[in-house]
Amino acid sequence: MNKKLNKKKLLIVSAMGTIALFAIIATFNIGFVSSKEDGKLRDTNLSSVTMTNLMDFSSKEIYKGPSENSGKVAYITIDDGPSKYTDDIIKILNKYNAKATFFMIDGNMKIYLEQVKNIIESGSTTGFHSVSHDIHKLYETNTSAREEFDINNKTLFKIAGKYSKVIRLPYGSKPYMPSSSYEVLNSAGYKLWDWDIDTQDWKSTSTQIINNVKKYSKDRDNIVILMHEKKQTLHALDEMLKYLSDEGYEFLPIDQNEKPKNYWLGNLS
Ligand SMILES: [Zn+2]
Repeated sequence: MNKKLNKKKLLIVSAMGTIALFAIIATFNIGFVSSKEDGKLRDTNLSSVTMTNLMDFSSKEIYKGPSENSGKVAYITIDDGPSKYTDDIIKILNKYNAKATFFMIDGNMKIYLEQVKNIIESGSTTGFHSVSHDIHKLYETNTSAREEFDINNKTLFKIAGKYSKVIRLPYGSKPYMPSSSYEVLNSAGYKLWDWDIDTQDWKSTSTQIINNVKKYSKDRDNIVILMHEKKQTLHALDEMLKYLSDEGYEFLPIDQNEKPKNYWLGNLS
């Protein structure tokens, strides 16, 4: 009787132990399934994962912050270059595996030839930002704006053997651009990009730039950030990317074939 009881107790204890073990495995398993970041560990057979692996994995998770596949995308767009700051901007972008889009002015491309090539090499997108940077000249006739972007293309081809369809108008496409100019640009195949987060970096300190980004990116999954090649922007960039990266954003370059986001299409948030 006593022996039997002991045996029963033993059975109950070992059953509870097994349940507890399964619970632990299940808990970690959920961790694996929910993480898409580390493909190697995700595909690892659970039975071969040691406690060291698990601890290593979780510490990595904490260090890296939210997964790259959170679905949040930030397009970093940088106007008015290239400039003496371009190479340092690229260095900081690389630190975060970030790609940006550079909207370049014709005269600056001709001065900073190497920087144009460096942008291409870094995997960021080369876009155009006109020749004159002057709304009176750009909209003088229906075709003036298109002609300026055609000149940008000739310049880029001379420097790097490439063309680009991605453009941004100085001061944005609204309210200055007449619809006739917009139609001409569209028919020529240009993809016009505006923005939905203005860092106001041209008139701000580095701290203000970061605060603007924090304030306006709140609860938004897809953002197009307007920046310029300025000293204070360069100084704010590292902290800005760190913040957005921790918030789960992936930094993508604008693709040449992507449907643009602009005020005419009304598809910016
Ligand atoms: Zn500009």
